[in-house]
Amino acid sequence: MAKNVVFLGPQGSGKGTVIGKIKDNYGVPHISTGDMFREALREGTEFGKKAQEYMNRGELVPDDVTCGMVRERVARDDCAAGFMLDGFPRNLSQAEALTQITDIHAAILIDVPEAVSMERLGGRRQCRDCGTIFHLKFVPPKKEGVCDRCGGELYQRDDDKPEAIRERLAIYRSETMPIADYYDRIGVLLTVDGSGTPDEVAAQVKKKLG
Ligand code: AMP
Repeated sequence: MAKNVVFLGPQGSGKGTVIGKIKDNYGVPHISTGDMFREALREGTEFGKKAQEYMNRGELVPDDVTCGMVRERVARDDCAAGFMLDGFPRNLSQAEALTQITDIHAAILIDVPEAVSMERLGGRRQCRDCGTIFHLKFVPPKKEGVCDRCGGELYQRDDDKPEAIRERLAIYRSETMPIADYYDRIGVLLTVDGSGTPDEVAAQVKKKLG
């Protein structure tokens, strides 16, 4: 049976890292709407430019744009055995739209205190060329400002700057938290404690997913 899983949790809860650790066990793709927008931006498409205005302010890209992008993505062949969605849905109307698109079998909520999110996001640096993510404290690059993998320049995303982080966490509290209730009501919500190491959190998620 296909296993369609959504991951919920504030920015900095480690959703992307945990999915990266477990997705091969399930043979399904990791779909991150934030990465899809950033890729469109790197490619310089009109679509990417439109999304950029919202992203730089830490705001959500409008639902019609985002839902259309996800609808098209989960219909691709590589999602036949399921998928792991990261960063979508982000509000109730996206959750309802997703239910119209396909069945969701599990919603994993990775729970972390806000102070932990702030520390994880504030230290994050990403490679401009290959997208690899480092952290000044937890995963420092061998040479400051340079990607270990491809030698590209490391930068801080505009939306990882303190003002934008606060804005994103506020949006999470008001818009994303109600989604956890939505999935709880339909009986698929599974909660894990996200304050441990990536390996500890990944182990909890695997146990919950079975
Ligand atoms: P992320 O990397 O998931 O934090 O996403 C970065 C930015 O992309 C967000 O701050 C939004 O501007 C945009 N974005 C990502 N996913 C969504 C979504 N599901 N709905 C609306 N905007 C999104």
